[in-house]
Amino acid sequence: MRTIIVGGGIMGLSTAWGLARQGHEVELFEQGALPNPLASSMDEHRLIRHPYGEHRGYARMIDDAYRAWDLLWADLGQRLYASTGTLALNGNGADWAERSAATLASIGKPMAEIPVDELPSRFPLMDTKGVERAFWIATGGVLFAQDIVSALVRHLAAQPRVRLRDHTPIRAVDLERGSVTTESGATHTADVVVVTAGAWFGRLLPALASRVVPSRQIVVYFDLPADQRAAWAKAPMVIEKTGDVGLYLVPPAEGRGMKIGDHEFSRNGDPAAERTASAEEMRPLLDRCRSLIKGFDRWRIDRLKVCFYSVTEDERFVVERQGAHGWAMSPCSGHGFKFGALMGLELARTIVEGRDATAHARWAAGLVGDEPT
Ligand SMILES: Cc1cc2nc3c(=O)[nH]c(=O)nc-3n(C[C@H](O)[C@H](O)[C@H](O)COP(=O)(O)OP(=O)(O)OC[C@H]3O[C@@H](n4cnc5c(N)ncnc54)[C@H](O)[C@@H]3O)c2cc1C
Repeated sequence: MRTIIVGGGIMGLSTAWGLARQGHEVELFEQGALPNPLASSMDEHRLIRHPYGEHRGYARMIDDAYRAWDLLWADLGQRLYASTGTLALNGNGADWAERSAATLASIGKPMAEIPVDELPSRFPLMDTKGVERAFWIATGGVLFAQDIVSALVRHLAAQPRVRLRDHTPIRAVDLERGSVTTESGATHTADVVVVTAGAWFGRLLPALASRVVPSRQIVVYFDLPADQRAAWAKAPMVIEKTGDVGLYLVPPAEGRGMKIGDHEFSRNGDPAAERTASAEEMRPLLDRCRSLIKGFDRWRIDRLKVCFYSVTEDERFVVERQGAHGWAMSPCSGHGFKFGALMGLELARTIVEGRDATAHARWAAGLVGDEPT
């Protein structure tokens, strides 16, 4: 079996890995360098966590996602992950933490509720005034995303049946015939073409462009005084919403950066445009950090990073058969990286074994086991 993959982010690379480990031929096209610094997958970290709001199907998939990462660590010969545990905080009408806890309880993975009067002693780095409910689960942590995609590129480059073509933009795909045309006009054909073009997805698949839209997101990296850095390096990931701005905080595990972002999708922007951001754009988030984090006045902004991902209305993965020889694959949310290894392995199995495409799409959309139990 010969497969062409368009896009060298975590989805394309993982699918190539899944196919290559079964002995199949893969040709992967990437418009930029491999990995591409502009890809959504190229940031220091991405979080993996069990709490998933009321998305029971995705919450259930997290254990499989961990197993897929373990398989990848074995193939790469290194583990690019730090376990931190997950702390979810809510107040002022926001209830994502409660909904997540209820969902996890219903599938036998309970979160522990922490009485709010215990928060100051258990989490002394934060001022938790305004927090009304707090939940903890020991699972969850930081995937070292850009190290993972870089290691995958090196691993795949050493596989005899894999051909990686960097700096080769694809201008058009024909999923009925199983062919792609490069910017320079060359046509390549395969048994199957998989489009994993991230925020650029709609340009190659215009029929899906109104459903899968690019979303410009900004994250802030901070420089911390050494004492605070050491303390935060041992802290959990924090997912918080007690007011207008909800934030997630990624601790600086194993020497990586300290990062904070917000939960809001912009649902606009052009991934090919100039990527600049100002601290002013992040003012509400920075104000919330000032009230939540003790000693925040000693933190300095190290850099603002503008990233793009694709997003759908319902935040569910699109992994769908298109034409006689094609698949479209996009995480369509700010939560796709954690499922990268799993999605790649499973799509490879479906392609090779000829499993049912509709069932695969439902599974990838998190709809299997999603109904209340
Ligand atoms: C700020 C932010 C925070 C996030 N946080 C998390 C998190 O905590 N946990 C989590 O699980 N997920 C998170 N995500 C989401 C996750 O990063 C993405 O879902 C995932 O990385 C998308 O991978 P991808 O391979 O689909 O896309 P990408 O990584 O963007 O890769 C697509 C690739 O396709 C290439 N390409 C596009 N068009 C063409 C073409 N015509 N020809 C050739 N190549 C092409 C691009 O150059 C790019 O390299 C976050 C995303 C952002 C932006």
